[in-house]
Amino acid sequence: MNDSAATAPEKAHSDAYIEHNAAQVALLNDSIFYFGELGMQEFETAGLMAQLLEDADFTVERGIAGFPTGFCATWGSGSPVVAIHTEYDSNPDNSQEAGTLEPTAIVEGAPGHCEGHNVNGTVLVAGALAAKSAMERFGLKGTLKVFGAPAEEQLVSRPYFVRDGYFDGVDVALTPHIGAEFGAGYGLIQSALISAIFTFHGESAHAGTAPWKGRDALDAVILMDVGMAEYREHMMPSMQCQRVITNGGNQPNVIPKTAAVWWYFRGSSAEAALQVFERAKKVAEGAALMSNTTYDVDIQSAVWPVRGNQTMAELAQAEYERIGAPDWTAKEDALARALQEKAGVKVDGLSRGTMKIKGPATQKSAANDAGDVSWKVPMVKLYFPANIPNISFHHWAAGVALATSIAHKGAVAGSKVLAGAIVECFRNPDVVAQAKATFAKELEGTNYFSMLPPEQKPPLELNRTMMERFRPEMRKHYLNEKPRFTEPGA
Ligand SMILES: [Zn+2]
Repeated sequence: MNDSAATAPEKAHSDAYIEHNAAQVALLNDSIFYFGELGMQEFETAGLMAQLLEDADFTVERGIAGFPTGFCATWGSGSPVVAIHTEYDSNPDNSQEAGTLEPTAIVEGAPGHCEGHNVNGTVLVAGALAAKSAMERFGLKGTLKVFGAPAEEQLVSRPYFVRDGYFDGVDVALTPHIGAEFGAGYGLIQSALISAIFTFHGESAHAGTAPWKGRDALDAVILMDVGMAEYREHMMPSMQCQRVITNGGNQPNVIPKTAAVWWYFRGSSAEAALQVFERAKKVAEGAALMSNTTYDVDIQSAVWPVRGNQTMAELAQAEYERIGAPDWTAKEDALARALQEKAGVKVDGLSRGTMKIKGPATQKSAANDAGDVSWKVPMVKLYFPANIPNISFHHWAAGVALATSIAHKGAVAGSKVLAGAIVECFRNPDVVAQAKATFAKELEGTNYFSMLPPEQKPPLELNRTMMERFRPEMRKHYLNEKPRFTEPGA
């Protein structure tokens, strides 16, 4: 990045926009935190995010690719087309009050944010509004597309967005994600994953008086489990599979005529994940044969590994260095240390640095539904510091910082970086051209294809029952005030 990229007046403006709206950033962050909505049930969250973008004159398409809680907000016109996207879903039984040092549910047993996707959604909107403000003020040409992506925790929405053409014509993409420090990498970052539910069908009977008349679907689930356990020994070390039994029958004296098991199959490439999936279907066939049942398989989602483009990662790195880590107070650092102590992890407080750019990155076994986007267009996953280092996601302790000044400052820093990177793409067309060139090179020999069957529909019902059960109690904790972003000097 040359000096003008670091000192560009367009970026001074997007920074000023975020600073001017810092209280709104915090309010949006906390609003999403207390909504605490599960994937594909993010009605309050997506509604608020889309409304804020619409209030700033974005054209909003709601309910994209069959997802009622997905949206695409567009501002500007012509080339280049820059897309930003992220998730805002919570996790089951992760309800956790902010700012405490004890596991304290806001609503016992309810869903909640213990990964920080509330901060992701906040950064997406604030970054978009700040970049748009700079585009308008300085007459920057191009199109900004903002995608709200439901259900990252079930790895669902973005493969559907890509399959349905929402990223056709996009030049580059950026996806912000909470972390404990700034960081971006290139190369393969995460793994491919196929999520599928296997349902076995038999025949019910009285288990005590006539078990010989029954065909037990639960037997098939168990036999499949045994077969997969044996297969694990012969997988490549980079392959994995995990499962939960979602239907094991109703009561012991009724032989289950239906039973279901939900599997995740992981691999370092789309082909590798498919290989595990194909093998699992054979195991299911065998299990059905042994138990005299039948089975069907319903793919919930199928994602490619997340990859980072080198040019886009370098662009992010330059913005990290321009903005710098948040200036944490002694009180914030003390909370972090106390929590690290409590969670039994390394006690070193909040991070004050920026990770060196990681390239080629070390591929992790985790997956993210942004994967498919990263094979369609040059993309960077932008990590920003808004959580406490060393604490693992989905643990109650990972929820503690998410509606405190730690998350608020992190969201401000993350939004400035995202806005700065977007602005750079619009003010410097060379970056976009270079990203496309390096991307073409990086992909040599790979033909992206969607692993989703063309007729596959999103599994919208997945979390509905659980969310509806807890929402009435959770609603009592919603914030009353609505964020309102304004132009600096207005
Ligand atoms: Zn996440």
